[in-house]
Amino acid sequence: MGLLHRRREPLNGESPDLSDARDEISRVRGELERAQSALDALPIGVVLVDPRGAVLSRNHSTRVGRGHSDVLVQEAIDRQVTQALAGRESSASIELFGPPKRVIQVKATPRNDGGALVIIEDISERARLDAVRTDFVANISHELKTPVGALAVLAEAVSEEDDLEVVHRLANKMVDEAHRAATSIDDLLELSRIELGGRAVREPVVVHDVLRSAVIRSLAAAEQRDIRIDLDEPEPALTVLGDRRQLVSAVSNLIDNAVKYSEQGAEVFVSAVIDGRHVGLRVEDRGVGIPTKDLDRVFERFYRVDRARSRDTGGTGLGLAIVRHVATNHEGDVQVTSIEGEGSTFTLRIPVAS
Ligand code: ADP
Repeated sequence: MGLLHRRREPLNGESPDLSDARDEISRVRGELERAQSALDALPIGVVLVDPRGAVLSRNHSTRVGRGHSDVLVQEAIDRQVTQALAGRESSASIELFGPPKRVIQVKATPRNDGGALVIIEDISERARLDAVRTDFVANISHELKTPVGALAVLAEAVSEEDDLEVVHRLANKMVDEAHRAATSIDDLLELSRIELGGRAVREPVVVHDVLRSAVIRSLAAAEQRDIRIDLDEPEPALTVLGDRRQLVSAVSNLIDNAVKYSEQGAEVFVSAVIDGRHVGLRVEDRGVGIPTKDLDRVFERFYRVDRARSRDTGGTGLGLAIVRHVATNHEGDVQVTSIEGEGSTFTLRIPVAS
């Protein structure tokens, strides 16, 4: 805008040109400071390098930690800058073994003026989710491959068999394997519905109704093993805030487990307990129990203490993952106490409706 050329009266004996130049310098300095503070506010690290590799500008987020971590990141920056100054876009991920463990991505791009722009990003969460997804896909493939593989072998055997009695036995096995695949798919669908559904529905739900419906769902499985489900009916006015369908699904998963991991002819107890601002939906059994070392892990998808027993009883390894998701969706939690050989008590705590 020609500010530098505008004539003014001398101030304190200073020439107008000099005074205008000072104004201009302080304006540019202000702008630079504003740009730097905007750059410093970014959650990603940014480094600008000139064609000779000298750093023109870098923001706060380029410092990812202290001491050794910063040294490792600086080495990665130097390597990527060398590539970018040679005209090649390049990127590398480095793992910092914390704790907490972190994954940092350093990416350098050549600039038109021959310099380079480096972006440093903490991608730990993305890397963790990728690992979870890869594990999940591997687990699903395994879970479905087992019954589907068995079905193929059985079908082949049936097609070559003449003895009707054997054909009948093989066909029954095929039905079992088909049910196993169907149950896994049902549980996967239920889990994804509950995960995606999130915390949408928060209506007053009568606890009595949830427990009854869950017991009814599990009755057939209990009868098959001659197990009695003892429902201690809560008072009809007791209500929680939540999604009825999800709550029934969670409690019924807990009852199914109590039935599966109890001896034939045992008893399972279902009740509700008031615990401050929460209602605990409780399922108790006198079954095989869970070793202390496994207690934290049983809520993970596909985790089983005894793989063979879970498989024999038609388990999918997803039941408790569903229960934990339902608890999270309701801003509640799920607690377990168990003694190996004596039994387990699971309590799903849901906020009470005021
Ligand atoms: P599964 O379909 O294998 O039962 P879950 O996610 O429901 O999968 O449970 C995970 C594991 O936790 C089970 O394989 C079992 O080892 C253990 N478990 C769950 N509930 C009980 C229980 N009531 N008694 C003993 N072990 C249990």
